[in-house]
Amino acid sequence: MSKEQTILHDPHLSERDPEIFSLIKEEEKRETDKIRLIASENYASRAVLEATGSILTNKYSEGYADKRYYEGQQVIDQVENLAINRMKALFGAEHVNVQPYSGSPANLAVYLAFCDPGDPILGLSLPAGGHLTHGWKVSISGKYFNSVGYGVRKDDHRIDFDEVARLAKEHRPKLIWAGTSAYPRTLDFAKFREIADDVGALLIADIAHISGLVAGGQHPSPVGIADVVTSTTHKTLRGPRGGVIMCKEEHAKAIDRAVFPGLQGGPHNHVTAGIAVAAKEANTPEFKAYAKDVVDNAQALAESLLGHGFSLVTGGTDNHLIVADVTAKGIAGKVAAQALDRAGIVCNYNSIPFDPRKPFDPSGIRIGTSSFTSRGMKAAEAKLLGDWINEVVAAPEDDKVIEKVAREVKECCDSFPPPGIPVD
Ligand SMILES: *Cc1c(COP(=O)(O)O)cnc(C)c1O
Repeated sequence: MSKEQTILHDPHLSERDPEIFSLIKEEEKRETDKIRLIASENYASRAVLEATGSILTNKYSEGYADKRYYEGQQVIDQVENLAINRMKALFGAEHVNVQPYSGSPANLAVYLAFCDPGDPILGLSLPAGGHLTHGWKVSISGKYFNSVGYGVRKDDHRIDFDEVARLAKEHRPKLIWAGTSAYPRTLDFAKFREIADDVGALLIADIAHISGLVAGGQHPSPVGIADVVTSTTHKTLRGPRGGVIMCKEEHAKAIDRAVFPGLQGGPHNHVTAGIAVAAKEANTPEFKAYAKDVVDNAQALAESLLGHGFSLVTGGTDNHLIVADVTAKGIAGKVAAQALDRAGIVCNYNSIPFDPRKPFDPSGIRIGTSSFTSRGMKAAEAKLLGDWINEVVAAPEDDKVIEKVAREVKECCDSFPPPGIPVD
């Protein structure tokens, strides 16, 4: 055999799979040329992407550092320990598990650690801004547990703590969730703690959306207040797609056992490395400035929208997101979101509290400013963005308006190249 024949044919993606390669290029362009306002999305940095795309994906490492089921963990144990120690330093947590595959499996691990099937649990209901995994009926969390949902008040759309306390007394839940996916206001973890203590429930804070704001000092931390804190790593925290569980030392064993072997097999070591990088990035003054800008931008955008006569759930925002009731503008949420997408402004349609419309055709849109902020856009661009949203919502079927806004959006985007793109 010649030398050439013994060399493994190992081409780049562009050669091996031009179809997937060109789709990735197309998505790169979309993420560059459009203003992305999906509140759960962000731009991971080049460093995070490199770690996540690394050969660490090749290694199996069921178990935890120094207690693995396979040999060859000389490197992986160090990677996982770095990720854990950096997350501990970032959030001040006693114990950290970085193995959950994402936010939903992290929450499932919490159930497995503390609940038996049929146990009562209490969480914010989905239409009020809660997450599927906090007991919504179609989710395993609503099917396997006796889930009860609290809501927000009718008059100001803030969490109804009287209702939380009443339902807690009535149902004696094993655990209470404090966490949201579409709630624009600061969460009062101490108040949840009081209610949980009154009924002997565990308090679980799910900071999937706001963990970047917590790390950056823009939202009070539940660490030290809640028994367990879960989070995604890819939303405002700007890491790779993953999950993390932080808890007091007394729950460490139960949590670790629930994640592995209770729920998962081998951890995704390439993602663990990305989480380590993201935690390092988040522990910097630059990240603190980003977190502040995220909130400043959301508030500037809220001001701009209010100035245009929009109706905002709770009347504004304390965090990275806004929920607008666009029916006040004579348009449904889905029509608005689709018209905005055509204009290069990407958000999602969303239910509003007490929404008279159906979940698949609701009254609102949800807007988040984390991706927008990660590319360096500031309050001046947020004000412009409010103007564009207003123009599109006023004329969702006018192609001239849509095209004009799309042009202006593209021009604005050209001045703010996003992190991590293009991939080289
Ligand atoms: C996004 C989110 C999750 C789930 O995260 P995935 O990574 O999508 O599974 C869990 N809880 C809350 C509050 C969320 O917003």
